[in-house]
Amino acid sequence: MNFLEYAPAPESPSILHLRKEYGLFIDGEFVKGHGKPFATISPSSEKHIAQIANANAKDVDVAVAAARRAYDRTWSKLSGADRGKFLFRIARLVQERARELAVAESLDNGKPIKESRDVDVPLVAAWFFYYAGWADKLDYAGLGASPAALGVAAQVIPWNFPLLMLAWKIAPALAAGNTVVLKPAETTPLTALLFAEILQQAELPAGVVNILTGAGDTGAALVNHPDVNKVAFTGSTAVGRAIAKSTAGTGKKLTLELGGKAANIVFDDAPIDQAVEGIVNGIFFNQGHVCCAGSRLLVQENIHEEVVDRLKRRLSTLRLGDPLDKNTDIGAINSREQLDRIRELSDIGEAEGADRWTADCAIPENGFWFAPTIFDNVSTSSRIAREEIFGPVLSVLTFRTPAEAISKANNTPYGLSAGIWSDKGSKILAVADQLKAGVIWANTFNRFDPASPFGGYKESGYGREGGRHGLAAYLQTSIDAGASRTPVAARTTITKKVTK
Ligand code: NAD
Repeated sequence: MNFLEYAPAPESPSILHLRKEYGLFIDGEFVKGHGKPFATISPSSEKHIAQIANANAKDVDVAVAAARRAYDRTWSKLSGADRGKFLFRIARLVQERARELAVAESLDNGKPIKESRDVDVPLVAAWFFYYAGWADKLDYAGLGASPAALGVAAQVIPWNFPLLMLAWKIAPALAAGNTVVLKPAETTPLTALLFAEILQQAELPAGVVNILTGAGDTGAALVNHPDVNKVAFTGSTAVGRAIAKSTAGTGKKLTLELGGKAANIVFDDAPIDQAVEGIVNGIFFNQGHVCCAGSRLLVQENIHEEVVDRLKRRLSTLRLGDPLDKNTDIGAINSREQLDRIRELSDIGEAEGADRWTADCAIPENGFWFAPTIFDNVSTSSRIAREEIFGPVLSVLTFRTPAEAISKANNTPYGLSAGIWSDKGSKILAVADQLKAGVIWANTFNRFDPASPFGGYKESGYGREGGRHGLAAYLQTSIDAGASRTPVAARTTITKKVTK
């Protein structure tokens, strides 16, 4: 008999006052879309949540025109301090409606409520508070004199952190004085639409933020619109590559936050219990739907067996199930398509000879689920060591020396993040220095802070979000201007010399 069994503790969805249908949010109003509407469903039950409008190219045109008008007539005329007041207001409204937003996010995305409540939504508010503070201090951001807004920003985001990715995009764009057209992912539009209601509540001037729901073709029409000055994309490397090609030579400023295959390196002098918690947080947080997930565990050979044993014991205690239950650790996979991909890559891992272990947990009848899984004895050439699985699947590799750990960690086309576990600060600094990753955590993992820049190397994309660096992505700075002016000035000087 288990004396410590948990009683169900579900958060009630009755706090939500959802509409049956949601339109596009353009020029401060919800309007009908011209594409074929689609349903958003709950991935944990496959139940219908709401009918969502679908924006076609004509709707994209109308939204970009609204954003341009708002930029010319209102937003660019406001002082930084006034823009900041709107951002503070939005941040406070997010806090006021935090519980509702967390429930909506868990319902639509499938992530456990304890994550949406304690991580996603508080970080959303933090992002708006942080950039609100920057809005009247752009001249002091170290980006040169009088940095200027770019104009209209087109922003396309994925489904893994729907509201948080929205905040990462909208907060710096508005603080820097741009207006926005944002497209959420097709499987998770709900919290972006609740956010549109918050913008109405905040009385943000019409057209400053427009939200277009739809799929990849809506995203493509948006980023390729000729009246857009800036494109910010978070999503897969394949789509990022297509956007880089289609925007090349258009003068649009581009930032890409793409995939990852992070190494989480555990040295034999690491505190093992903490490291095990960090490994679990690194890959099983948000069902592993995390671009910077520590999906490759590199563990020093002499502690390999101990770490894997403890990890299996720990994973056996994780509770998989209803995302709205406050005791749930592992929620639902976001879509059937994603579940199929996780299954396919896991089967390939097994066929390639790695040892598969899956936590013994009951899988609910309906919905999309994948139990926490470890692949041990994975070779560096295996597809599960190279490709992003984007699910609760950990690949375990070993190393003997720091040099081998560094070389294996860098042996990936990606370069978004990495983790180092060691008791020795000097070792952490020496290893971090040689890792080709944009974000490196030491004795922790998956920590986010609005003041800290985030972004990748190589196929993980370019540009940074967060911090002062995140502002630069939305500003024309004297550094950018200098780069384009210098050759002209140099040419003039040469011409003068020649004619003398
Ligand atoms: P995806 O690239 O398929 O879709 C992302 C978004 O792009 C969606 O809104 C989608 O509708 C839109 N889209 C699709 N085709 C498009 C096109 N041709 N033009 C414009 N927009 C288009 O990615 P996904 O499966 O939704 O998200 C998972 C991926 O996102 C993973 O690879 C993950 O690593 C990455 N991701 C990266 C970060 C980061 O910060 N680096 C954060 C979260 C997710």
